[in-house]
Amino acid sequence: MRNGGLKARIAVIPGDGIGAEVTPQAVKVLKAVCSSAERPLEFVEFDWGADKYLREGVTLPPGGVELLREEFDAILFGALGDPRVPSNQHAADILLGLRFKLDLYVNARPVELLHDRLTPLRDRTEKDIRLIVFRENTEGIYVGVGGVFRQGTPDEIAVQEDVNSRKGVERIIRYAFEYARQNGVRRVCMSDKSNAMTFAHGLWQRVFKEVRQEYADIDSRHLYIDTLAMEIVRDPSQFDIIVTCNLFGDIISDLGAQLAGGLGLAPSGNIHPGKTSLFEPVHGSAPNIAGKGIANPLGSVLTSAMMIEFLGWKPQAEVIRSAVRAALQENYVTPDLGGNKNTVAVGDWLVNFVGKNHLAKQLK
Ligand code: ATP
Repeated sequence: MRNGGLKARIAVIPGDGIGAEVTPQAVKVLKAVCSSAERPLEFVEFDWGADKYLREGVTLPPGGVELLREEFDAILFGALGDPRVPSNQHAADILLGLRFKLDLYVNARPVELLHDRLTPLRDRTEKDIRLIVFRENTEGIYVGVGGVFRQGTPDEIAVQEDVNSRKGVERIIRYAFEYARQNGVRRVCMSDKSNAMTFAHGLWQRVFKEVRQEYADIDSRHLYIDTLAMEIVRDPSQFDIIVTCNLFGDIISDLGAQLAGGLGLAPSGNIHPGKTSLFEPVHGSAPNIAGKGIANPLGSVLTSAMMIEFLGWKPQAEVIRSAVRAALQENYVTPDLGGNKNTVAVGDWLVNFVGKNHLAKQLK
């Protein structure tokens, strides 16, 4: 079913807060674009989230990971997080559980400016801001190795280990080069802090030097993360692909999201090539605006485009992106982007645009 096949099964986990408001908009746009008999998508919704946790004490149900791995091609995820669960236990169990158990080692975060007015950078246009960050998603400081010694005393010591395996580093760097080759992209930049983190990022240096030799057709270079942070703001047009570790990827991709219009627009994918992968908007559950009907659905809609592109349906993904571009052009957007439309109205507008322009039909 994956990679250009004719049909796909999608697990939909809307989750909490605005996740439950934006995800249905993405699903209805997907249905509009892929509704022809030749491109069926089957959706199965899962009610995993804070309500279920509070009701039944269940976070990630037993057998849930196996079910998703064996019976679904991809997961469309909303967001998790609820003020009634201050520990955020359900979010940790479900989201981190899926990332680790499905071994989703690539966190792909496109940074693409879809309308000039959305960037805070002066004199930058759409053609300048079009890159993708590949963040290592299974290792680094996020593995939870460490401890606290003499806690609560003036002599307290806290240690958090940065874990980097040869296999983990190699597969994310290799993924970046393969993506470049397969998508006709010319430039890969690997970023680390090997001048200070000599052991951990020394490994990144060695692996990068080896792997890049196999990809002489791609321009590859290295920047320390502090230099990258300056350069991406000074001139984002110099980047096509950035590959980096878990921590730096977290930070630099949020910086990138702001360059392209903010959290409400940013999509992401948690990917294991060829296996069931999970796609989610970068934003969280945003309890401050949940239930008001004003959440921006475009991040989720763009996420769904990423998902079907991963499934091999690139033309359909392009239809969704052009609908989003058109909504931005018309300023048919939610208040976070300066508009006055609500979440459902934006979703309806996109569905209507897709139908009216017969874009989906032209693809048959
Ligand atoms: P969580 O704890 O689940 O990560 P959060 O509120 O801490 O939620 P985000 O949801 O990522 O963090 O977003 C931070 C703020 O950005 C939100 O409180 C909200 O004001 C704004 N925001 C995020 N996403 C959207 C969106 N899709 N539409 C409108 N505003 C948004």
